[in-house]
Amino acid sequence: MRWSKTFIHTLRQDPADAEVISHRLMTRASLISKVAPGVYNYLPLGLRSLRKLEFIVRQEMARAGSSEIVMPAVNPAELWKESGRWFEYGPELLRLKDRHDHEFCIGPTHEEVITDIVRRLVTSYRQLPVNMYQIQTKFRDEIRPRFGLMRGREFIMKDAYTFHADAEDLDVAYRAMEAAYRRVFERCALSYTQVEADSGNIGGSESHEFMVLADTGEDAILACAACGYGANVEKALSKDPNPAPPYPLDATQQPQSIETPEMKTIDQVADFLGVAPAHLIKTLIFESYEEFVAVLMRGDQEVNEVRLKNALDCTHLQLATEEKIEKITGGPQGFSGPVGLEGVRILADPTVMALEHAATGANVKDTHLVGVVPGRDFKPDVVVDLRLAREGEPCGVCGKPLAEKRGIEVGHIFKLGTKYSSKMDCNFLDNEGQEHPMIMGCYGLGIGRTVAAAIEQNHDEHGVIWPIPLAPYEVVLAVLNSDKPEVVAESEKLYTALLEAGIDVIYDDRPERPGVKFKDMDLIGFPVRIVVGKRSLENGCVEFSLRRDGEKSIVALSDVVIHTQEILSNLKAESTVEEKG
Ligand code: ATP
Ligand code: MG
Repeated sequence: MRWSKTFIHTLRQDPADAEVISHRLMTRASLISKVAPGVYNYLPLGLRSLRKLEFIVRQEMARAGSSEIVMPAVNPAELWKESGRWFEYGPELLRLKDRHDHEFCIGPTHEEVITDIVRRLVTSYRQLPVNMYQIQTKFRDEIRPRFGLMRGREFIMKDAYTFHADAEDLDVAYRAMEAAYRRVFERCALSYTQVEADSGNIGGSESHEFMVLADTGEDAILACAACGYGANVEKALSKDPNPAPPYPLDATQQPQSIETPEMKTIDQVADFLGVAPAHLIKTLIFESYEEFVAVLMRGDQEVNEVRLKNALDCTHLQLATEEKIEKITGGPQGFSGPVGLEGVRILADPTVMALEHAATGANVKDTHLVGVVPGRDFKPDVVVDLRLAREGEPCGVCGKPLAEKRGIEVGHIFKLGTKYSSKMDCNFLDNEGQEHPMIMGCYGLGIGRTVAAAIEQNHDEHGVIWPIPLAPYEVVLAVLNSDKPEVVAESEKLYTALLEAGIDVIYDDRPERPGVKFKDMDLIGFPVRIVVGKRSLENGCVEFSLRRDGEKSIVALSDVVIHTQEILSNLKAESTVEEKG
């Protein structure tokens, strides 16, 4: 492609709303331009990078046994009502009506539509498994669209779905997808980590996220360098870092009331009573769909609300208001406790039940109880791990300290189970003629977000440094003295020779000053640069350099094609995924 013929308009200034480097550079390097918040044009250079990633994804999906389809962006409301998501999804779902007043939404993901395809055409275990994917434009009305393509409202996703007769078969597909994702990110030369993710409250048994490590990542990961364990902080398990010290007060036959006027914080109360914060049982009253629950945590620990939601099997949860707390416990906020508490379900973290003696609120104004024995003085309805894991705590697997890292979630794979198939009657007959709902998996990968994440990881103060597999063009050929006919003539010859050799090259044929050309090449970040200038031509040579390290070499005109091929094959070898097995 000739630069003069394509559409590249680089900017010297950062866009005002760009908070992260990929957003700044994608705009300045003329990869994207903004239409509305979270809605972008993909300009020629940006589209080439997206298409290159899509090509890699298509190859790996084929290898994993998935067939490509395309489903409509516009989905009829009926399907979404069948699954129940029409009512649950909330304002992220963009809803619209046609001229006949029929309701639709723009798909934020496509479980409903694919389940409808499969239930109409597949009826027997003999026709399973089914494995299909699409690369398609999604819409989610994100509350805070930002970071350019990383959190858009309209964005391109690869979404795959599988349907199975049993859990073992789902596992086979899941492992193949997991391998496909790893290969995709490795082929893009990204530094990423695969972590355990929360599989939510929908009966899914396993879920993993693929995180590109970057300081600007919106997700927190806890990872163990010693054993390789890694999990989203919502899912991470750590060992109890500081089991409670011996209880300093005398053991009693029953809990004793002590006045604690105006003392509401854990530290105030612990200090006053002469116990450690770990001896206090913090009692939090939550409300979920009009049901109230009491959650018991040790005073020195925090509750993980995602775990709590899973334990309660709900998607919506909030702390109860002061007024409601008073009504339920009989005492004001800050003085709640499990002893004698009735009419609400009580959930306790295991570290609470491990306390021999404890102190807690008495459900009476300005009063706490000491000498409380979990199990004797109160019995929770459920004991479940609700503790939020934190950096530095011992890894739940090997006990070495966990480190916190930031990541950009580029992919998410999920064992869905029968959430959609049972609601939407997507059933099959087994070999005995019995009907069962199909078991499903779903697998998402953000195309735009992955390209943006590659830039977050590969740039310097001058611009993008593309990993070769995602570069809009692998090579740029630039003519420096476009006012000199002999230089132009030689450049034209080289351009033709490179094209004929099948090299992915853009030819900067513009009548611009060298300074402008170098700045643009740095900004856009083509991996290999060939510069044709008057002075080196006099010696029958051109200058090669790599964007990555700026290393220059002088190459004879007759060797340009072969030298380019060699450089490219070296660069590509670095990002080739080794075949295993
Ligand atoms: P997040 O927690 O970042 O909102 P999600 O859990 O909603 O992501 P999924 O529903 O699992 O994401 O979607 C699959 C993939 O689609 C994500 O891993 C991500 O790469 C991409 N993706 C999701 N939301 C967006 C968005 N708003 N803009 C760009 N890509 C997105
Ligand atoms: Mg989201």
